[in-house]
Amino acid sequence: MTLTCEAIPLLSDNYAWLLTEGATTAVCDPSEAAPVEALLQARGRKLDLILLTHHHADHIDGVPALVARHGAKVIGAAADAHRLPKLDVAVRPGDSVAVGSAQATVIDTPGHTVGHIAFHFPEAKVLLCADTLFTLGCGRVIEGTMEQMYASLMALAALPGDTLACSGHEYTLSNLAFALSVEPDNAALQAQAKKFRALREAGKPTVPTTIADELAANPFLRAGSAAEFARRREAKNTFRG
Ligand SMILES: [Zn+2]
Repeated sequence: MTLTCEAIPLLSDNYAWLLTEGATTAVCDPSEAAPVEALLQARGRKLDLILLTHHHADHIDGVPALVARHGAKVIGAAADAHRLPKLDVAVRPGDSVAVGSAQATVIDTPGHTVGHIAFHFPEAKVLLCADTLFTLGCGRVIEGTMEQMYASLMALAALPGDTLACSGHEYTLSNLAFALSVEPDNAALQAQAKKFRALREAGKPTVPTTIADELAANPFLRAGSAAEFARRREAKNTFRG
């Protein structure tokens, strides 16, 4: 069993993820069809599955075209079925999802939206965390409560440290500026700053990271309580670095 995952940059700062295992191909959160098609062609693959983390347009708008072309099956949260593209498989937290022989567990991660879910492949050590956890950041708390978002982040933080966190946006330089304002003396953060600035200067993605790296430097995972998390999240909303 070898699950591979590859970031697909789309729109201005979104990432979808191409997953392959054996002959099976899946994409997570395609906001556009064309960049996904281009990568499928380059890899000589047809699309079997579409995994959706939440209902925002910049995660689902490519679904109809991909379904029309490939007949791919769409998997998303049962709780959000009314506002997601038509689901072939409606999943609930704790359910399993298979990409070839790779099994993922559905993790409930409310906060950014109330129906947001993550997909965790424990054997492959891959986490599709979309707009819950970003490199050095986290999603805005739009629908849920600060307490829900903090609990969601803590659930992801509890996964093995070498788990690859595959997030939904390239917000890293902005997140980095805020993280440095919170913990200017954090050596792990300073080391990551160097790495991420070099990656961005080279036009490369700063995803995926690992849960261990995020625990060492992400100010939202490092908040000691929901109240401290809420203060940091509110500060980030108006932060101009
Ligand atoms: Zn979103």
